[in-house]
Amino acid sequence: MTPIALTIAGSDSGGGAGIQADLKAFSALGVYGASAITAITAQNTQGVTAVQDINLDILGAQITAVLDDLAVNAIKIGMLSSPEIIGVVAKKLNEFKHPIVLDPVMVAKSGDTLLQDSAIDALKSKLLPMATVLTPNLPEAAKLLNATEAATKDETLAQGHALLAMGAQAVFMKGGHASGAICTDYLVTQDGITEFSAPRVDTKNTHGTGCTLSSAIAAELAKGQNLSNAVRNAHQYLQRAILRADELQIGSGHGPVHH
Ligand code: PLP
Repeated sequence: MTPIALTIAGSDSGGGAGIQADLKAFSALGVYGASAITAITAQNTQGVTAVQDINLDILGAQITAVLDDLAVNAIKIGMLSSPEIIGVVAKKLNEFKHPIVLDPVMVAKSGDTLLQDSAIDALKSKLLPMATVLTPNLPEAAKLLNATEAATKDETLAQGHALLAMGAQAVFMKGGHASGAICTDYLVTQDGITEFSAPRVDTKNTHGTGCTLSSAIAAELAKGQNLSNAVRNAHQYLQRAILRADELQIGSGHGPVHH
């Protein structure tokens, strides 16, 4: 049986992040990808020039159409834009029994807003408790907790535990925004902590890293891997995509990683 993953996320017209990155990662990892688009961004490697949220009925209809017919093994949730969109996604996934990877996308690397501030409470109350794994970077974790950004390992782990206490089954704290020659991520679960380190890669082509990581985790979960193996394989996949990013010359800003 071909494993199937569904991404519920925003469209990036430049092809580097969002739905487009998710489908590339699914495909590269041997998983059939379906999509439900939450918002359309007009975007390239330099930034976002416009955003249009999708009509709520069409969003709900996309999710229903996919789940009614395709045997989806895992779902990745990315850009959600508004509290209303979060409400539709939460309602539609209420009965979904397989793993859900929740990437709390808030701001693009270009600095453009992808989640309204008014949507953060809805994300916490409606979707976070449904997450098999939540994948915040350090600024996103801080925003979810109304705290300052973690600056040390202890603070990072404390924030991971605080997010776990809010109802996610696991939290993958991504350390790429911290300074230093080594980037360290932490998988925080009730059973303990696993550390993932990799040397920082000197490239400006990092557009879509977060999307790629969360969709790679969803792909590995769709294939039946347990969470710790899924995270390990996805971390390796992203590492390779960043190391090869400069082989691609796409656009004049922050180009995409290389799937
Ligand atoms: N655009 C869309 C539609 C996204 O879902 C994301 C995901 O995080 C981004 C842009 C941001 O990508 P990045 O921060 O890697 O530039």
